[in-house]
Amino acid sequence: MDSQGNREKMSKQRRDRNLLAFTGATAIAVLAVNFAIAAFNAHKKKQKKKDLQGSNVRVNLSASEILKLADRIIAKSKQVHDAVASVPFDKVTYLNVISPLAELEAEQFPQVQSCVFLRLVSSLDDVRKASTEAERRIDAHVLSCSKREDVYRAVKAYASKREWTSPEVKRYIQSLFFSPNVNLFLISGQVRDFERNGLNLTVTKREEVQRLRAQIDELSLRYVRNLSDDNTFLLFSEAELVGLPPEFLKSLDKAENGKFKVMLKGHHVPVVLELCKVGRTRRLVAEAYGKRCGDINLSVLECLVETRHKLARLLGYLNYADYAVDLRMAKTSSKVFEFLEEISASLTDVATKELMMLKDLKKKEEGELPFGVEDLLYYIKRIEEQQFDLDLGAVKQYFPVNLVLSGVFKISQDLFGLRFEEVVDVEVWHSDVRVFSVFDLSSSELLGYFYLDIYKREGKYGHTCVVSLQNGAISSTGARQIPVALLISQIQKDVGLPSLLRFSEVVNFFHEFGHVVQHVCNRASFAKFSGLRVDPDFVEIPGQLLENWCYESFSLKLISGFHQDITKPIKDEVCKSLKRWRYAFSALKLKQEILYCIFDQIIHSADNVDIVELFKHLHSKVMLGLPMLEGTNPASCFPRSAIGFEAACYSHIWSEVFAADVFASKFRDDGILNQYAGMQFRNKVSGFDETTFGYNILRLFSKFFFIRVDLQPFSALMYWPLEVQRIPLKFSRTFLEENHQFRLLSTADLNMVASRNYQSFYFSMPFMLSAGYADSIASQRPAFLVSKRRNNFQCKANTRTLKRLELSSWLRVP
Ligand SMILES: [Zn+2]
Repeated sequence: MDSQGNREKMSKQRRDRNLLAFTGATAIAVLAVNFAIAAFNAHKKKQKKKDLQGSNVRVNLSASEILKLADRIIAKSKQVHDAVASVPFDKVTYLNVISPLAELEAEQFPQVQSCVFLRLVSSLDDVRKASTEAERRIDAHVLSCSKREDVYRAVKAYASKREWTSPEVKRYIQSLFFSPNVNLFLISGQVRDFERNGLNLTVTKREEVQRLRAQIDELSLRYVRNLSDDNTFLLFSEAELVGLPPEFLKSLDKAENGKFKVMLKGHHVPVVLELCKVGRTRRLVAEAYGKRCGDINLSVLECLVETRHKLARLLGYLNYADYAVDLRMAKTSSKVFEFLEEISASLTDVATKELMMLKDLKKKEEGELPFGVEDLLYYIKRIEEQQFDLDLGAVKQYFPVNLVLSGVFKISQDLFGLRFEEVVDVEVWHSDVRVFSVFDLSSSELLGYFYLDIYKREGKYGHTCVVSLQNGAISSTGARQIPVALLISQIQKDVGLPSLLRFSEVVNFFHEFGHVVQHVCNRASFAKFSGLRVDPDFVEIPGQLLENWCYESFSLKLISGFHQDITKPIKDEVCKSLKRWRYAFSALKLKQEILYCIFDQIIHSADNVDIVELFKHLHSKVMLGLPMLEGTNPASCFPRSAIGFEAACYSHIWSEVFAADVFASKFRDDGILNQYAGMQFRNKVSGFDETTFGYNILRLFSKFFFIRVDLQPFSALMYWPLEVQRIPLKFSRTFLEENHQFRLLSTADLNMVASRNYQSFYFSMPFMLSAGYADSIASQRPAFLVSKRRNNFQCKANTRTLKRLELSSWLRVP
């Protein structure tokens, strides 16, 4: 019944209204109604679809179209690679070698995404299948391209001419090139992608690289498969499960003897550990959970780590951690140790107090029984219940989805100078999906688009995430391709009622929106550095930064309103409770995370580590004396270290620290809608072409946000983990004395090392081993650690370096 004229009028009014910067609760009400109308109209007007101008993403391909497009992409890519490879070395130019590769990437990225993103969101089974198949074909093709020696030679020939037209071009070529142990900024002939695939090696070594890669894939999958195939369960009577909610008990299967089956899976174990009042039950569950796949996965992990080291060494690195960290913001594994150690030390006081609180409560409730790691979750939950009067069910009533959305738009407008406008009548894959244009607030320049697929539905990808559909880029003719992002989340859609977000969903939504802002604002000229393709140590920072706005009263009120009367925002006391709740036991929780990160970093920087002993040692050291549960093997059920985050588990904490620093130094005190700082963040960090390359980000941060970023390279320490692990058994025992006291290496020890075929190594690195004696050692005779370097280098034994070297105390060498 809605006539075309009315629709146009409404659409124009909506646009006009969206141009305004709203403030206050009334404005939120207007905006919320406005979005509700927009949603209603978007839903209704399905007949006539217009193109999303500037977007090359196709959102509704059929199964056969997907496969045809995938084949076309591969054929075109092959053609371009062949053309580049055919250029004679003396004729290579930017236009016939570099530009075709860069433009191919920019042009094909949205096409590739058109094929593969439907795997995540399509409601049609055959489309999801075709999409998965397309991804497989394209992945195989991309892999074969990265192994093409002819293309590598052509790019290398151009790079050797060193004709950079801009720093970004130089960086692009360097990103194709890469060799370890050479100065990236001095030597031009490095092919990163190619050389990380071994193209600079001899044919035999290259084959070995491929063989090792295949072996690594196989082992890491086996590790994960073992875990997912593990169906161990424990049986408990009702009395042994006191404290668990009746609905949870009802959901449990029962054995023939009437006992409840608790599966050792993520949907059962945390509930028991958090809520079960029976200490013995918690302990049994925690023990069995920590024993999963003990023997099998330990040997898989050992083999996996060894194979990774082999691969890294073939590619010119000293160990796998150096290989994994090299292209990240952290740059070296020693920097990661230093970072983790510093954070862990800074948490000790608070974490000790937190642990004391938990121990006291346990004493009150269970008497003199010792406090174990299995008690952590339970007593944290108990104290949280006592301290915070937080009814999260009631909090949810204040977060209708449209209000949160208009709130995040408002905050992004004020902070980052962005304006959002809904685009209706464009093609989408499901009627719930909405599309928004993002404009620069002051110039009205169209910066990009994002799709919002917010509701949970059958067959849809089950997590919240942002997917790049098209990356920004500038072609050789100077035309700009704009970025297109997709935000997927899993909000429950309530029919007939406004959908409400749980508080954790609000925080998640803000986090993901940070990624959207960064994606759309990234102004890199090459698709390779655009969108979310930034340093993996950096990529989480915008999301983690934006989460902070969910805990400040001012912004919380902006995004909340009781669903039956949205002019009533959330109460002050609740805002305060939410903020206190966020930090409750955060030191202890973070310590636990650090424990795993240090473990991950050590096994990937040393050979022949006794994994079980290492974990045992680290556990009580990091967790303030709390021992590892007897008989458990946490390393056998820690998939992050086996696949996806190997030697990079630290990255999450790393970016979190940066995000916290940026927030504290720029927004918390200077006003959380401080547009000056927000624009700095947008221009200098999110949308600046120097942001994607390791140390540049670090420099940028330290220079711009005046936060403490230590750029001391500690080059002498770069290789220490390898040397430590190579030291013979007797020698290495000195590392671990009782009470974690370490002693200075004696000259006899050193002579012994020297006599064992270590003569070719230089004795050049001063070394200490005692946590308490750094200062006294500094003034005395330093001991030495062998250092395998072609060039001898000296490192002054000052207190500072000695302090860094205390990191060695993390290391338990068998
Ligand atoms: Zn994220």
